[in-house]
Amino acid sequence: MFIYNTMSRSKEEFTTKQSNKVKLFVCGPTVYDDSHIGHGRTYIAFDCIARFLRYEGYSLFYLQNITDIDDKVIKRAQERGIDPLILAREYERRYLADMKALGVENVNLYARATEHIPEIIKQIKVLLKKGFAYETKTGVYFEEAMFPDFGNLSRRKLEDLTVHRVDLDPSKKSPGDFALWKKIDEQPSWDSPWGWGRPGWHIEDTAITEEYFGSQYDIHGGGLDLIFPHHEAEIAQMESASGLKPMVRYWMHTGFLNVQGEKMSKSRGNFITIQELLHRWDGEVFRFLVLSTHYRSPIDFCEDALIQAQNSLERIRKTLKKMDEHLENSPEDEESFQMRTKMWEESHKKFIESMKDDFNTPKAISILFEVIRNINRQLQDNNLTKSSVTEIKAILEDWEQILGINLFPPLQEHDKSGDVLEILLEVRDELREKKDWELSDKLRSRLNDLEFELEDN
Ligand SMILES: [Zn+2]
Repeated sequence: MFIYNTMSRSKEEFTTKQSNKVKLFVCGPTVYDDSHIGHGRTYIAFDCIARFLRYEGYSLFYLQNITDIDDKVIKRAQERGIDPLILAREYERRYLADMKALGVENVNLYARATEHIPEIIKQIKVLLKKGFAYETKTGVYFEEAMFPDFGNLSRRKLEDLTVHRVDLDPSKKSPGDFALWKKIDEQPSWDSPWGWGRPGWHIEDTAITEEYFGSQYDIHGGGLDLIFPHHEAEIAQMESASGLKPMVRYWMHTGFLNVQGEKMSKSRGNFITIQELLHRWDGEVFRFLVLSTHYRSPIDFCEDALIQAQNSLERIRKTLKKMDEHLENSPEDEESFQMRTKMWEESHKKFIESMKDDFNTPKAISILFEVIRNINRQLQDNNLTKSSVTEIKAILEDWEQILGINLFPPLQEHDKSGDVLEILLEVRDELREKKDWELSDKLRSRLNDLEFELEDN
């Protein structure tokens, strides 16, 4: 398997630190507002990556942090006049519901920053002791100049970095130095060796990953916009604290999601939350759209792209429904069966190879379409045998599991209950015609119990 490593800017063969164990960390949300579809894209991509790693037999520990204390959380809570932690819990719940609707269900552990304050304090203490950090009146800061590798991931030079930053805190040695601990009195704050305060943003991730993974692990993921300064800061903190390099073996970053060719932002008015998306579209349609693009490429989000994704998904499901309906009439096996099986196996191999090549989902999906076209052709020629159907079903079920999308049409239980109701109503009409009031009333009352409101006219 090959993975594109942002650090080396190249595809590298995937090897793990510990035999078949994979430790994956992806930066989680700051829970002060609803997540937008750009976040949705990133988490869908990593969910599919997690699914594939498990499919390949790796024992995966997928960890995400929840930033539940932060300037943005506090500001929004003040605006709404509520406790910041109550606000954070509310948006955390909404985030998890959004993820569920998008089929994102492979994270093993969501770790809240506020529940890892002792680990954060411990790491800051080490950084101070080793001379990578210093304390001022306003907080504890990481001294960027002490870490010459700063900028390696983003390929920026230290000199370029500091010039562009504006920071009003004169107590820092250099404007690029970033906060590990912010001294504050107001709630919520936590007691520390440096007085009451709260952690900086970057330190929560490394304190959490060190707690669950140790100081070195396999994969760190996130959106492209997090490379600088967030991921640079994580590397600086962890490698300085442990003295071990590299902190992670593979850095993976998802491309941007643009809306009609423009970067999504609140000021442009093209900001779309996952909630807004789900009001009008099925989560699976968006998931299909996301996976139809390679995770590193930008996605241009627009109505047409969603319509196209929906149509594609419908075409697949229609074919598979037809295949099921024709199953009884499918011919029995003949000599050509072996040859056909080989054809499906060949497609499966190509699908898996695509996924092994830096999780190339668009290529895998193109192979899915190839198979769908093949099924259609064979249905038309009426030479799709029963064994062939069994074979292709088993393969497609594997692909469903990897993509996290239902390819087979969902069982239409709801429609069936409608049909049953229709029959019961007919029976009831007949009972009334025969003036069997007792039985027709009983039927009505039982249907009313099931919340079918019937009225006699
Ligand atoms: Zn992070």
